[in-house]
Amino acid sequence: MRLRILGTAAGGGLPQWNCACPGCARARTAGHRARRTQECLAVSVSPRVWHLVNASPDLRTQILAAPGLTPPDGTRDTPLRGVLLTDGELDHTAGLLALREGAALDVYAPAAVAAALDEQFPLRTLLAPYGAARWHALDVPATGRRWTLDGGRLRVTAVPVGDKRPRYAAGPARPGPWVVAYRFDEPATGAAAVYAPSLAHWPDALDEAVAGADCLILDGTFFGEDEMGERTPVVGRAATARGMGHLPIGGPAGTLAHLRRHPGVRRLYTHLNNTNPVADPASPERALLAAAGVEVAEDGTEIVLSGA
Ligand SMILES: [Zn+2]
Repeated sequence: MRLRILGTAAGGGLPQWNCACPGCARARTAGHRARRTQECLAVSVSPRVWHLVNASPDLRTQILAAPGLTPPDGTRDTPLRGVLLTDGELDHTAGLLALREGAALDVYAPAAVAAALDEQFPLRTLLAPYGAARWHALDVPATGRRWTLDGGRLRVTAVPVGDKRPRYAAGPARPGPWVVAYRFDEPATGAAAVYAPSLAHWPDALDEAVAGADCLILDGTFFGEDEMGERTPVVGRAATARGMGHLPIGGPAGTLAHLRRHPGVRRLYTHLNNTNPVADPASPERALLAAAGVEVAEDGTEIVLSGA
């Protein structure tokens, strides 16, 4: 199984265009390696067959930077076969508009998200004349939803990890889940990876998904619960990490405490907000992660899992 981490920033990227917080200021001056595009992953178990998880607004740039995602010689084609959405946030879905020139992709989304992309943010209506997407609305019970891709060579399990709706989808409540994590299994090798770029809570089903996986890439949006207010002074009350649907990394109930239960799994944080100090390799927060054996994903990282 091959994972290509296309982007590692939360919505807005790093630096964010309108922000001069310490993280954004550093990213502007520290060279291109300090910059991060918005979170997106590509996964493959077969040559020339890739699926994306999420479709970031930076998708065109990310595809151009990924050697495995180029069209085969002499063709107008793509190895991309589908997109799995973890949620309906704009920074995870707007990139679908950039894929409209291609042949139909299979797009999988939790049912509530698929409905919101029909109504409040009508991507499905906008894309329909281009024939660019076949939509699959997933019912995701608490125990998870399983199906296969790539002719059965890639098994997928969706696990509910949140009910935070995108801001555009306010209004009468629709039953969730609104946010899922995905576990990928390659039966031929036994390789398994879990991708959870947005985590509002950590259910038992996520522990079950992580147990026995080789690799976990997870929500590193915020290090601290009150980081937004502390690092980007705004008028009025700043949002908290949990209020925005993200468990912070630090603190007694943060994700790092959960990660300590899975020492044998390679663990990487992604979806970093521009306020997150772990984006700076020299920060004490990054040293804390290193001491725990936990990594921070970088744009363009490729991970090859060969299984047992
Ligand atoms: Zn900033």
